Amino acid sequence: MPDQGKPCLVHTRTSRGSASRRTAYDRTVTATTGAASTSPTTIHADRAAGTLDIEWADGHRSTFDTTTLRWLCPCAFCRGEAGLPGWLDSSPTLSSDQTRLVDVALVGGYALAPTWGDGHHTGYYTYAMLRARCPCPDCIARRDATPASVGVTDRHEEHA
Ligand SMILES: [Zn+2]
Ligand SMILES: [Zn+2]
Repeated sequence: MPDQGKPCLVHTRTSRGSASRRTAYDRTVTATTGAASTSPTTIHADRAAGTLDIEWADGHRSTFDTTTLRWLCPCAFCRGEAGLPGWLDSSPTLSSDQTRLVDVALVGGYALAPTWGDGHHTGYYTYAMLRARCPCPDCIARRDATPASVGVTDRHEEHA
């Protein structure tokens, strides 16, 4: 590889069996639906740094480290289904393979499907979910400030 100028290292791989899945790396995404805040314009998977960068149409940027991303896997195996706990709910110790991003596919204009070093690839991370889980300090502060139960706890104390 003579050209080492760019650090983007998620390479296109031929995916067996599902022709509709395209590999995404450092690319511009044309989103046709959704609000600007959940429409990515650029998705950059940096395998060397272990990060996935998403730039959104509203100008915001989310940088996920791959371990965080792996823990967010929303698939039925990891998260469980029908009220049953999934694999990640058992707080497993993730191996380096399991947090190694190998590939990222775009799914139907609404989600990403990462492929992990252990071969896991069934998690479809919707853009809305990724934005909602943005790990930047601004978004974390905003989520912390969101009152989950304001107005419920104090009410009957005043009643006395
Ligand atoms: Zn999963
Ligand atoms: Zn953010």
